[in-house]
Amino acid sequence: MIAPLAALLRYHELKTQGTAAALTRREEARLLQSLTLDIQRRYSNLSKRFEASAVVPLERGICTGCYMRQPADLKEIGEDIHECQHCGRLLYDPDVAFELSVG
Ligand SMILES: [Zn+2]
Repeated sequence: MIAPLAALLRYHELKTQGTAAALTRREEARLLQSLTLDIQRRYSNLSKRFEASAVVPLERGICTGCYMRQPADLKEIGEDIHECQHCGRLLYDPDVAFELSVG
């Protein structure tokens, strides 16, 4: 199993690249396996609404989708996937995402 955040980012990347062929059914199934049904459902709704910006980095406590500040306790999100309190986009820590992508 891969980390949920890594799976979400990879899934989002493949979905938004516009190359459907890049995401094989097998890989899609593998990635979705790492995501809770709740996240899958949220992602599905958000991607219809926001497309490429359905999943965005949280920069200095600010959602980079709607540029609204998040509650102070959301500074250290680690590998968690959070939801913006204002627009509902899925938020992640870009430094953690980078570490995950490097492996
Ligand atoms: Zn937002």
